[in-house]
Amino acid sequence: MAFSTTQLQQTKVGCPYCGESIEVLIDASDADQQYIEDCQVCCRPIVFNVSLDVDDQLYVSVRSEDDAY
Ligand SMILES: [Zn+2]
Repeated sequence: MAFSTTQLQQTKVGCPYCGESIEVLIDASDADQQYIEDCQVCCRPIVFNVSLDVDDQLYVSVRSEDDAY
């Protein structure tokens, strides 16, 4: 059971809309995923891209939903 624990990692990102730093919980088992979460400050949808770097460190990048189109 030692390695079955879900790894939640708290990360700070800057909102692409209002520039505020917001804290998000990233599930390490969700690496290589993209999802949308509303900004806690301006309530606009932020697109999160979660990936792992070579050291198995979570890397989170954000962009505005507008950039997707
Ligand atoms: Zn915002």
